[in-house]
Amino acid sequence: MLGLMQSQPLLISSLIEFAERHHGDAEIVSRRVEGDIHRYTYRDLAQRSRQLANALDGLKLGFSDRVASLAWNGYRHMEMYFGVSGSGRVLHTINPRLHPEQIAWIVNHAEDQVLCFDMTFLPLVQAVHAKCPTVRQWVALCDADKLPADTGIPGLVSYEAWIGASSADYAWPEFDENSASSMCYTSGTTGNPKAALYSHRSTTLHAYAAALPDVMCLSARDAVLPVVPMFHVNAWGIPYSAALTGCKLVFPGPALDGKSVYELIEAEKVTYAAGVPTVWQMLLGHMGPSGLKFSSLKRTVIGGSACPPAMITAFQEQYGVEVLHAWGMTEMSPLGTLCTLKNKHLALSKDEQMKIRQKQGRSIYGVDMKIVGGDGNELAWDGKTYGDLLVRGPWVVQAYYKGEGGDPLVRDAQGRGWFPTGDVATIDADGFMQITDRSKDVIKSGGEWISSIDIENIAMAHPAVAMAACVGMPHPKWDERPIVCVVKRPGAEVTREQLLAFYEGKTAKWQIPDDVVFVEAIPLGATGKMLKTKLREQLKDYRLPGL
Ligand code: AMP
Repeated sequence: MLGLMQSQPLLISSLIEFAERHHGDAEIVSRRVEGDIHRYTYRDLAQRSRQLANALDGLKLGFSDRVASLAWNGYRHMEMYFGVSGSGRVLHTINPRLHPEQIAWIVNHAEDQVLCFDMTFLPLVQAVHAKCPTVRQWVALCDADKLPADTGIPGLVSYEAWIGASSADYAWPEFDENSASSMCYTSGTTGNPKAALYSHRSTTLHAYAAALPDVMCLSARDAVLPVVPMFHVNAWGIPYSAALTGCKLVFPGPALDGKSVYELIEAEKVTYAAGVPTVWQMLLGHMGPSGLKFSSLKRTVIGGSACPPAMITAFQEQYGVEVLHAWGMTEMSPLGTLCTLKNKHLALSKDEQMKIRQKQGRSIYGVDMKIVGGDGNELAWDGKTYGDLLVRGPWVVQAYYKGEGGDPLVRDAQGRGWFPTGDVATIDADGFMQITDRSKDVIKSGGEWISSIDIENIAMAHPAVAMAACVGMPHPKWDERPIVCVVKRPGAEVTREQLLAFYEGKTAKWQIPDDVVFVEAIPLGATGKMLKTKLREQLKDYRLPGL
């Protein structure tokens, strides 16, 4: 017997319709590429998203055709989130920090037909447009009068002129909720990037889950600043969850330096911000020396790479901001776990609570996870045993776009598919997961594993250290030994010996790095994560002391 409830497809258009009807006057504030501040409401967003949908119809774009963006976080990008997907097309958000060759490669791979870009990326588009034959329409995300006369890009139009010519009268189509809605290519540190292809169903379910109190806890009383880019895994789904909750949205545009982010937080009374540790490093680096404080910020989600405990402490103790450590990946839409305490933890001491907060957190309903050993058997949830982390759920990929890379899933005894994350983790008895490493970054010393994240976290707690990256170096006896590459804070001093002494008592003796290498910078990838492959290349002539 089937249930007798209405069956409505979960579509992204329903989010914007809801926001328009129930939170029409909630504000969306954007710092534009031009530097000025733009303000409008969800009502305006909905209206202009419909204009965009009509403009796409005008190009005779078919169902599931790809429309690409090369853009910062801002209101026009937000209109693409709803206008493109809502009308049945697929939004392909491109990471502008990728190499131009790689951008051309993914535009061709995705067969993008329209590409909308912020003016910041005009030189990039000028460099690649001739290599992108599938693109029929180039659109500059700017006012008509800001479009330079001769860009060399055939048929280039300004977004405002383009959608301005279209009516806001548009009925969102209804279709299968499993239809593709957007796509995002993985960072692709090895080989060509592969794309996760999200669906309306996966995106809407993720939006619901992300808003829950023990997840991102978004509400109509929040002012939310997604510093995490809309070109990387849909800004952790915040644009969709925002429409669902009616929170005020504040977009930083291209200005991601500490000063600009701080000023925006204060001016717009931001209560909630989300971003990767490197961005918060810049923010704290700006605030510390000037003695600045927050007047409105209450919570921040930090994820994308391990959040150093020293950062969690700084936010909480110095600034009264609660840090929610989160873990996820492109293949997971991206949220997998978030670290919020349980009731029984509230009675614990600050130090004990801190030990929990450092972990990547517990599963959100919708994501099941397990750790397995080399034989594929599930390992104990004891907080000590580590293994390969596998996940499954309705917003986890089943396959990559165009079947690239074959079947990525691992089957269990019941035939259910699990996605191997490539991360190594422990899970404790309360279900809190802690990432030890990417499997390829784990350091194998004398048959034992050393977590590079643990080694980096200790270095990061030293006041003279701005950034630390731990890698394994070949060793004839131990196989590998850890070294730590360190970027010093401007004006700060620390010697190799002092830093090695700093490790004493903080980790087992055999896990203390064999050496400290001071570097100007750690290479970062297109999403702000440390590029250890590149770092290892830079260290190819390095020899461990005594070898
Ligand atoms: P991406 O798909 O580019 O977002 O990268 C996903 C990967 O980033 C994960 O598989 C992890 O290795 C890493 N990652 C994300 N969040 C965290 C976190 N909180 N701590 C440690 N690693 C993380």
